[in-house]
Amino acid sequence: MTAAAVLPASIRDRYEMVVGLEVHVQLKTRTKAFCNCSAQFGGTPNTNTCPVCLGLPGALPVLNAQAVELAVRAAHSFCCKVNEVSIFARKNYFYPDLPKGYQITQYDRPLAEHGRLVIGERPDSSPVTIRITRVHLEEDAGKSLHDRYPGSTAIDLNRAGVPLIEIVSEPDLRSSRDAGAYLRVLKQTLEFLSVSDVNMEEGSLRVDANISARLKGETRLGVKSEVKNMNSFSGVERALEAEFVRQCGLLDAGEPVLQQTMLWDATREEVRPARSKEASHDYRYFPEPDLPPLILSQDWLCEIKAELPELPKDKRARFVKEYGLGATDLDVLTSSLPLADYFEAVAREYGDAKTAANWVMGEVLGSLRTTNTSIARFRVRPPDLTGLLKLVRDGKISHSAAKRVFASMLQTGDRPEQIAEREGLIQVSDSDSLGAWVDAAIAENPKEWERYRGGEKKLQGVFVGMIMKKSSGRADPKRINQILSERAGG
Ligand SMILES: [Zn+2]
Repeated sequence: MTAAAVLPASIRDRYEMVVGLEVHVQLKTRTKAFCNCSAQFGGTPNTNTCPVCLGLPGALPVLNAQAVELAVRAAHSFCCKVNEVSIFARKNYFYPDLPKGYQITQYDRPLAEHGRLVIGERPDSSPVTIRITRVHLEEDAGKSLHDRYPGSTAIDLNRAGVPLIEIVSEPDLRSSRDAGAYLRVLKQTLEFLSVSDVNMEEGSLRVDANISARLKGETRLGVKSEVKNMNSFSGVERALEAEFVRQCGLLDAGEPVLQQTMLWDATREEVRPARSKEASHDYRYFPEPDLPPLILSQDWLCEIKAELPELPKDKRARFVKEYGLGATDLDVLTSSLPLADYFEAVAREYGDAKTAANWVMGEVLGSLRTTNTSIARFRVRPPDLTGLLKLVRDGKISHSAAKRVFASMLQTGDRPEQIAEREGLIQVSDSDSLGAWVDAAIAENPKEWERYRGGEKKLQGVFVGMIMKKSSGRADPKRINQILSERAGG
């Protein structure tokens, strides 16, 4: 039984949830934060390493300029004040995946502060502004692998030294749903900015939550706990719900909430206290002696701001204006940057956004789902889909033939014209061939033909169907209808 089921709703409803989130995001750089090793995910364990990220004595860190640029881009998109001077610090702790014995991060003088993120910007809800306390740069630790060798723990240091930003929010979130909404907007923003892959499964986006409960109407903050180990946004929402209910239960019974770290157990759908080691907080921060202060000129900061890629909400507004998309199409087609780019490429090239939207949302997304492929790796590229739509528009193939061609494009990767030719799907629209099929159908069904001529108009569809069959689907139905009317009237 889950905790939520144990606590009566009448008690839960007396309390308010207060949440702040700390999000770690891996920056999409070619190399690590302080050395030239590849920052690529995966790879044979311990191959992307060097004296700097292995923490060998005497090795000196050199800051990656691309990491700074991506971090500043992210900070700008959250409307932060980016500091012209920020300082790197050492966060000292022992863990087997941290060879130096400290992590290089930023502490009391972070890269950026005082930002905000707006959630609920939709026609059916009112927007809420969540304040962002800070955005700072830091390096990642390595990874302990507990499941590779039975009974042993292995260490992979490929991730050690990979650049991260940590985005810390104020405790402005009031429900697990809002926390989920915040994470989705944040993820989409970072994806649209090409700052990060924001892939929770590969660990390039990680979330820790600070949560407390207080009686509704109370303005002081309650004692908070930190919830960790969540590996999906819905996991975050469920973990917050479970921890909130736990805290409400304690408060209702007059017991204190302890400031501690809780771990989410997704299998058992519950939170449990972390061992004290995992909750230790005495990091003895001090300024990193091997790195000078990070000094950024106002000119450079303005340059990055001016070159900021289009943010999700701006893209949504533009799609409405340029392509006249409705709310549902808009939600789907701007749900990720590669999908938005794909749709836009087809819409621009083809010129009819509504048809482009229908095909992308229907055939394209349907195929992605059934083949479990990402749009980036999708075989039918926008020029080929556009080519297919043009074949339909020019009357060269029918709409149903287009679906067959599309399926074949998926399988073979061939161009739509090639496939339509090869499979004999090019529509026949010359009057002689069509006339012959029409006449044959009339000759075979003289009674129906008389009834049709006598005014039974619904028989027209029957004739069209027969002629389509005779032509193996290649007859142009628009022309058949014309010819039938001509014959009937003549
Ligand atoms: Zn290295």
